[in-house]
Amino acid sequence: MRIDLHTHSTASDGTDTPAELVRNAAAQGLDVVALTDHDTVGGYEEATKALPSGLTLVTGAELSCRLNGVSLHMLAYLFDPAEPELARERELVRDDRVPRARAMVAKLRELDVPITWERVAGIAGDGSVGRPHIATALVELGVVETVSDAFTQDWLADGGRAHVEKHELDPFEAIRLIKGAGGVAVFAHPLAVKRGQCVPESAIGELAAAGLDGIEVDHMDHAEDTRVRLRGLAAELGVLTTGSSDYHGSRKTCRLGEYTTDPEVYREIVRRATGAFPVPGAGG
Ligand code: AMP
Ligand code: FE
Ligand code: FE
Ligand code: ZN
Repeated sequence: MRIDLHTHSTASDGTDTPAELVRNAAAQGLDVVALTDHDTVGGYEEATKALPSGLTLVTGAELSCRLNGVSLHMLAYLFDPAEPELARERELVRDDRVPRARAMVAKLRELDVPITWERVAGIAGDGSVGRPHIATALVELGVVETVSDAFTQDWLADGGRAHVEKHELDPFEAIRLIKGAGGVAVFAHPLAVKRGQCVPESAIGELAAAGLDGIEVDHMDHAEDTRVRLRGLAAELGVLTTGSSDYHGSRKTCRLGEYTTDPEVYREIVRRATGAFPVPGAGG
């Protein structure tokens, strides 16, 4: 059984539409795929309708959080998308992405980059707009060679010349909201140091004490020694460990199913969730 619990579609900063994503997941031989767009559930309906038979969809989202000035991502699985408190916070975070992206475009223009908000908005389409969309515009303009090259101090990395912070949730509050909506909370790529500063390991312990269900261990941005450390920490704290691709279509290099989650862990996530059930594909 092959289970990938972290992917992005055009509902946020991935390049596959939700329908393409589930078709590609089936073509890759996955049995279970979670759709975890940034701060939105906007892709669910299309993904569900297009779901091929043999593939099960886990609904989810990746919530933008910040702790003591350090940004982090909290994966939320199988919560009730209609639960109002969490829905309201998702909306606040997502809506703030627009003025924030516009502010980053303004900063880039001050740096003499001829980027326009119209182009960035065109690239983002209906998706929750983020730095990867701006990075795609920078690639088009020849400012950088790849999306990843835009994530430096010169451009869009945390604290970089054109970076602007967005509204983000306190992760303790995020855990409370996720649980309140019947969901399961997993700390995404907690030690992805190449993306920028990470929270200290002590914070992972505090989040676990506050109800965190698991941490994402097998991820492209974790080196092998980091994974070993995280596995040890998870055992110590008694939390689950997951593995996932964090697929973003052509915007990142990782393939669907490049990392996967143990079926036992998946079953435990499903067992804990009360907000939603995995959706078996009916052959859309
Ligand atoms: P935002 O949500 O707008 O703050 O942008 C964060 C997103 O940018 C992440 O979800 C990743 O998809 C992407 N990202 C962050 N760091 C990098 C990097 N070093 N290379 C490529 N993409 C990155
Ligand atoms: Fe992303
Ligand atoms: Fe993430
Ligand atoms: Zn992600």
